[in-house]
Amino acid sequence: MFKSIDTTADAAEKGLSEVQKEFDHYQKKFFPERSPEFFCLELNGEAGELANIEKKQWKGRVILQERFEDEAADVAIALMNYANSRSIDLGKAVKEKLLKIEKKRLELKADGLEF
Ligand SMILES: [Mg+2]
Repeated sequence: MFKSIDTTADAAEKGLSEVQKEFDHYQKKFFPERSPEFFCLELNGEAGELANIEKKQWKGRVILQERFEDEAADVAIALMNYANSRSIDLGKAVKEKLLKIEKKRLELKADGLEF
């Protein structure tokens, strides 16, 4: 159940920061160091794979739930690796962005508009 944007933003910051740090330890221990450009391309490649199975389902093919889960996981992992390689604190960035989106949503709502 939704409590407040502050609760959501704080949870995103705490959870993502913890996950991101663990990914960083894992990546540094077992994989070669790679550039932000490499991970950005990997992220977009994985997002493309996810989009491709969505397109197939949209066109009528049956795609198993586990395929969506697998590709979504690839995107999440690639995003963590990209953020680490680019020294982005994803938890902090997501928290700030959520608060910015909510501020904009409320401004639009006050004007009778939808986000
Ligand atoms: Mg994939």
